[in-house]
Amino acid sequence: MGELEIRDLTKVFHDDGGDIVAVDDLGIEVEDGELIVLVGPSGCGKSTTLRCVAGLESPTDGDIVLDGTAVTDQKPKERDMAMVFQSYALYPHMSSRENMEFGLKMATDLPEDEIRSRVEETAAMLGISELLDKKPDELSGGQQQRVALGRAIVREPEVFLMDEPLSNLDAKLRTQMRTELQELQQDLGVTTLYVTHDQTEAMTMSDRIAVLNDGELQQIGTPLECYHEPENEFVAGFIGSPSMNFFDVELDTTGDRPALVHEGFRYDLDEDVYADIEGHGERFTLGIRPEDLELATADEPNAVTTTVEVTEPLGEVTYVYLEIGDRQYTATLEGDLVIETGRTLTIRFPQDRIHVFDGQTGEALR
Ligand code: ATP
Repeated sequence: MGELEIRDLTKVFHDDGGDIVAVDDLGIEVEDGELIVLVGPSGCGKSTTLRCVAGLESPTDGDIVLDGTAVTDQKPKERDMAMVFQSYALYPHMSSRENMEFGLKMATDLPEDEIRSRVEETAAMLGISELLDKKPDELSGGQQQRVALGRAIVREPEVFLMDEPLSNLDAKLRTQMRTELQELQQDLGVTTLYVTHDQTEAMTMSDRIAVLNDGELQQIGTPLECYHEPENEFVAGFIGSPSMNFFDVELDTTGDRPALVHEGFRYDLDEDVYADIEGHGERFTLGIRPEDLELATADEPNAVTTTVEVTEPLGEVTYVYLEIGDRQYTATLEGDLVIETGRTLTIRFPQDRIHVFDGQTGEALR
């Protein structure tokens, strides 16, 4: 088993400038064999959380629980967890084989031949058998990362903790290693907590994503839940690329139909949308993803007139940067379009695709 629970975790650092609450009452349960990715902007507490789980930092409050037992007071090496760092952290004077053997020798009293065969099996699995006698400075970045992974895998831990393990690799290798790592994690079935700031990594590798901001959990769910049903404005803006477009709007109920009014447009609401937001005051944020914007004709209801600033054709889709009022928004339109700067473009926000957030709390209402 490898059920990992982060229970009410708080970590406060004391600095010359005062207290920094890096992690704020965080609760996450990682199921046996599950891969959860922690994402969030720089400084939101991802690494501190992982370091508390590993035992490299001691929590100010809360517990780390493995299979029902609190391990909060255990030293890192007593915890049945293996960590993989961005920097690989290989010992430079040791060969790959020695690097992989080292942790096993420290943490277990396995006989020499067992250690040797485990290292060789793991190396074969990772395709690094021929690198076993080389030292880190004789290896490429990708090869070093495989050795670092090998060193974690060979210990057969209950939990893998990975802190941006692929971020030092170039884009092509990162994509390849992402797939390999995911397959490996599934084959081994080891519970994994994975930190990254790379959206694609988070979306494609994880069973569930935990989105953090300012040390607090914003949402935990499958990648598609976080994408389609963000619980608040922060998650809506953080998940998805290019980011969701947001408009500050006011509710106007004086016309025939209730509408959300922005300086650049008036958006009449269907009954079911109004039912979701009624009673939440007058100020809202209207959100629509760039890929949900559609081209429209100027005379259709709720059409929004925009000015094209820049187009970026990527082949399959085109990013169109639009001005509405004096702010810039993005539309991802299908196909290969070149639209002149300064041209007027009419778009629609399909009512079944819009998100509406409470203007005060940012909570998703729709
Ligand atoms: P990044 O993506 O940039 O690595 P992160 O989400 O991993 O960021 P953390 O490294 O966990 O964020 O940092 C969270 C907060 O705690 C930040 O404000 C950081 O400055 C602060 N912090 C982290 N370690 C320490 C420390 N040892 N002493 C003081 N403050 C710290």
